[in-house]
Amino acid sequence: MELTHIEHIGIAVSNLEDSIRFYEDVLGLKCYGIEEVKEQKVRTAFFQVGQSKIELLESTDPEGPIGKFVEKKGEGIHHLAFAVKNLESALKETEEKGVQLIDHTPRKGAEGLDIGFLHPKSTHSVLMEFCENKNK
Ligand code: ZN
Repeated sequence: MELTHIEHIGIAVSNLEDSIRFYEDVLGLKCYGIEEVKEQKVRTAFFQVGQSKIELLESTDPEGPIGKFVEKKGEGIHHLAFAVKNLESALKETEEKGVQLIDHTPRKGAEGLDIGFLHPKSTHSVLMEFCENKNK
């Protein structure tokens, strides 16, 4: 499998607009997109930093994955996403190495990327995501 770069870091926040202000006013980044991912019960905001992005995640439902995360742990880093050359084979190879997967096959994430998550139980407690951009 080939990881090419850190695609994004996912950060759980309790208020998207408040958080966007911090990234823009303090860090001088520019939010280039806000998107709701209904299936994940989140609204996301994106910032480009070099080759990588920051993905802010605000829950739209307390029962959703980000809602539960913020309730339990508060705001903070939620997941680390690697860009991969071939998502399907990366997931397969990871599983063959004995890693527990959340997604056994690719699904659609924000920005039209194909994504798949590895279970943090198998990754030293870091929720990891693989992303493949088939649109570029
Ligand atoms: Zn992500």
